[in-house]
Amino acid sequence: MILLNGKKTSEEIKNEVAQEVLKIKQAGKRLPHLAVIIVGQNGASKTYVAAKEKACQFVGFDSTVIEFPEDIQEKVLLEKIEEINQNPNIDGLLVQFPLPKHISETKITETISPDKDVDGFHPISVGRMSQNLPTFLPATPFGIIELLERYGVETSGKHCVVIGRSNIVGMPMSILMARKAYPGNATVTICHSQTVDLKSITLQADIIIAALGKPEFLTAEMVKEGAVVVDVGITRVESDKTKTGWKLLGDVKFDEVAPKCSYITPVPGGVGPMTIASLLKNTLRAYYLKE
Ligand code: NAD
Repeated sequence: MILLNGKKTSEEIKNEVAQEVLKIKQAGKRLPHLAVIIVGQNGASKTYVAAKEKACQFVGFDSTVIEFPEDIQEKVLLEKIEEINQNPNIDGLLVQFPLPKHISETKITETISPDKDVDGFHPISVGRMSQNLPTFLPATPFGIIELLERYGVETSGKHCVVIGRSNIVGMPMSILMARKAYPGNATVTICHSQTVDLKSITLQADIIIAALGKPEFLTAEMVKEGAVVVDVGITRVESDKTKTGWKLLGDVKFDEVAPKCSYITPVPGGVGPMTIASLLKNTLRAYYLKE
């Protein structure tokens, strides 16, 4: 079994991005700049935004975090997005989800300029991805294909089962694994909450990508010998064994599934850090589109 070490691979990517930024700096040019909007006090969102800001600092990007209170009017948020869309000094913009119920996430996504859409959620980005055209790929699926590629995991002709069909993970993941490219060229089955007899499907999978947000859902009896397992899930659960009183669990019962796998991602240290590395790559791409 080989561990798909996202922490180590993301460090490599961050160093590559930092090298690029150094060249930009040495040429005396403007630095890439990411803006992040966060609404309210959601603990997980604050942690993610802080991690994104730290990653920007590490590679040498400029970054701006704009905080709004929970009760902000949708109109004000949309105006802020329009303002950033017009700002020539900002290359990438993302709005941290989830948003309060009174704000339409669809409207927010569609207002971000497609050339600053570093989260890759805009319908134009998704459409271009579906047609295998150059675009911003959504950060988590982008991180996963990068991880598979850097470890040389074979995907062509393999049966890939994606569990979950969300717009941010499951659906784009299935599109990327099916596209005519490497990683890709897989035969993809998308499973979701209405799937009947999931186990009979996962048992046929050469590659399983678990993105349903149910801790330790995928057990050894659902996985065939030699499978590649990618665990996207991150759930905070209480723990009396950690100082913080909680720990992170993935969607895979790692201890019993890992011995059956050819490759597997850990949680933490697998897909999570790759997501942030992909965001940096997307921001650099947005910068080069302009410069
Ligand atoms: P979501 O809640 O939007 O989607 C979950 C999907 O799982 C749905 O499509 C649903 O149909 C499916 N599902 C639910 N129960 C199921 C079942 N019993 N059988 C089969 N399918 C089932 O979640 P999401 O935003 O896609 O996130 C999924 C998980 O990935 C969460 O734990 C989230 O925290 C994590 N996540 C991690 C990263 C990362 O960087 N590592 C990024 C995004 C999301």
